Amino acid sequence: MKCEQAMEQYLRADNDAYLPLALRIHLRMCGKCRKEAAAMRWALEMLRKEELHSAYGDISGSVMDAVRNSGNSYGRTMPLRNWVSGEVIIIASIFLVQFSDDRHWLNNFFGSNLEVPLYIVLGVLVTVYSALFVVSRLEEFKEKVVKWQNRQG
Ligand SMILES: [Zn+2]
Repeated sequence: MKCEQAMEQYLRADNDAYLPLALRIHLRMCGKCRKEAAAMRWALEMLRKEELHSAYGDISGSVMDAVRNSGNSYGRTMPLRNWVSGEVIIIASIFLVQFSDDRHWLNNFFGSNLEVPLYIVLGVLVTVYSALFVVSRLEEFKEKVVKWQNRQG
């Protein structure tokens, strides 16, 4: 097999795994064609990576445009009223739990040492809820602190 013929066949085959035997043998024996084939493989791989990269670039660009155009401001999706009523419900349930029937059921089930773990769980719940509230409104709090600092001097 001549080199020209080999490279022609190599270009026609679109998958390295299914190269004809004669071509494989030629590539084994001929350093010049082996180098050329390797260069083509590399170029093809670079091309594929570039295609993939630009495809992702296009997607993220259009997604970000869609987000910007949607007009939503993230982090302030839940109104303050909902946060406060959630907090009130949790705190009220801490006081009301001692009068509930479930409490008696829990007492029967776990014994009378229920108080401490129950209030720990409810305390953790209130803490986590409050932390989420503060984190979700961090920007707002920051603005208020900056305004207050500016007023102070
Ligand atoms: Zn050759």
